Amino acid sequence: MRAMSENNNKGRKANMTKFDKEVCDLLRARFPFIHISTYEEERLINEITRIVTTQELIHTIRNVYIWKSSEGFTNQYGQIQDDTTDKTAALNYVKNYDQAAVFIFLDFHVFCENSIGGVDYNIIRSLKDIMPNLKQSIQPKNIIFVSPTFTVPDDLKKDITVMDFKLPTAEEIEEVLDGMIEANSGGNLNVKLNDKEKESLVKAAIGLTLQEAENAFARAMVNDGCLEASDVDLVLREKSQVIKKNDLLEYIDSEVNIDDVGGLENLKKWLRKRDKSWLSSAKKYGLPSPKGVLLTGVPGCGKSLIAKSISSMWHLPLLRFDVSKVFNMYVGNSESNMREAIKTAEAISPCILWIDEIEKGFSGLGNSGDSGTSSRIFGTFLSWMQEKTKPVFVVATANNIAGLPSEMMRKGRFDEIFFIDLPTFNERKQIFKVHLESRLKDPTVMGDFVIDENTLEHLAGITEGFGGAELEQIVIMGLFDAFADERSITMEDFENSIHNTIPLSVTQAEQIRSIREWANIRAVAATAREDRKEYDNNSDSTPQPPEDKPQNNSNQSDINDSRGGRTLDF
Ligand code: ADP
Repeated sequence: MRAMSENNNKGRKANMTKFDKEVCDLLRARFPFIHISTYEEERLINEITRIVTTQELIHTIRNVYIWKSSEGFTNQYGQIQDDTTDKTAALNYVKNYDQAAVFIFLDFHVFCENSIGGVDYNIIRSLKDIMPNLKQSIQPKNIIFVSPTFTVPDDLKKDITVMDFKLPTAEEIEEVLDGMIEANSGGNLNVKLNDKEKESLVKAAIGLTLQEAENAFARAMVNDGCLEASDVDLVLREKSQVIKKNDLLEYIDSEVNIDDVGGLENLKKWLRKRDKSWLSSAKKYGLPSPKGVLLTGVPGCGKSLIAKSISSMWHLPLLRFDVSKVFNMYVGNSESNMREAIKTAEAISPCILWIDEIEKGFSGLGNSGDSGTSSRIFGTFLSWMQEKTKPVFVVATANNIAGLPSEMMRKGRFDEIFFIDLPTFNERKQIFKVHLESRLKDPTVMGDFVIDENTLEHLAGITEGFGGAELEQIVIMGLFDAFADERSITMEDFENSIHNTIPLSVTQAEQIRSIREWANIRAVAATAREDRKEYDNNSDSTPQPPEDKPQNNSNQSDINDSRGGRTLDF
């Protein structure tokens, strides 16, 4: 453990953080027992030592003693105090100590339980007995228990104050990174980071403990002897471990690239403009961190796909938040679940919080007969959306917007509401391109089939009213036919699968019309103006397939008589 002396603090500015103030207030008010939960013993000890040895902060400077079950007390200069390993002896040492001091107990929570997991009343009694001494001694003395988890025994609930210790700030992480770069720069380490890239690397490590951040940077360095922009992904992977331990949030290791999404150029443009907007360079422009987007639209047209692609586009971790789990009695108290999810996302920020099918979590509020719990949780979410300052970018996706409470749509919650409609002719071409190119790589499977402008125009021309997921299925079905016959793919394979598919726009024409009506008033079209041209310019609004290509087959819908969402350019 690094010992920190009073002298170490002389050069430090006594800027009081919220944590400093809370610690000072509790110590000065003579709270006898404080519990701080953290895995970061060393960082906490350094922080407490800094606070209690800085006169401008605490007024009465205190000595610091750290107790470990293995060696008893050590003072802040690393000197061991003999015969204090035994817990009763340690408490007696505290009792008889006659100077101002803080006693930090590291392993003590273990002793509050007996061998069968119940409460050890001998220890509880010893702690109660020492309490008057701590409160009334001439010199102030306090005990701080430190452990990752601690269930406060009922008998001490009124006497132990529980405090949070926040994960390291960007500045602290940057200090570690700078130290590592400096220590290794004489050797083989090649640092290829500009200021922005370095900031991204530091921000990627937010949510990790200092030790974890150091480990992540060390891995990035030894990986190829080079520290560069792409190492952000490695640090993010390290961070996924933090989320894996959380029930409500799931870390999604998304490999989806923005180029894997066909069309939706208006939405993509909006997103591209906001890349890096959580970095300090955006603050120079007076820009706030973007709050998030609500993506609504026809099912299977790329809402989830785009949510996943933002993560790789912005190099930020993606957390999926299952709102319905908040209400799951097996996961715990609903309101604290909501707060816990928000707290974790903020600790990990900058990050993307993807709320899939948000309508399932928040629809039908008020009729659930749960004495207002859902409304309160919804209220917590909305006020967080409104007021959040941490860069947690919320991507909410919804199929059934009719079920969404109107408060959700009010200005100030989401930056924009986008409507993702059935793909236009141009967009279908792009979607076919994505799915054909990603699968067709083998020349023997390709045979004479070529993925060129003619192919794409032909396929797009005969798939009016098909969604992105359906277009992908058409490619897959066509490939299955060729595979089953052990031959190369032909255009006919795809034409057959198109012929055999009845798209959602036929089976659910009414629902699609009604969500488009909704979107025309409230949402912005995700499709770019130039990709909608064919609809806006034609009086019958139906895109015309190229003349030499087959006309629509009988399964196609007449749904394209109107499109959803206002046309705005970003
Ligand atoms: P939803 O809008 O219901 O969230 P998804 O994003 O889950 O739809 O789409 C399902 C699948 O359909 C995707 O994984 C992708 O393979 C395909 N798909 C849908 N839209 C597109 C698109 N615009 N570009 C490329 N593929 C798409």
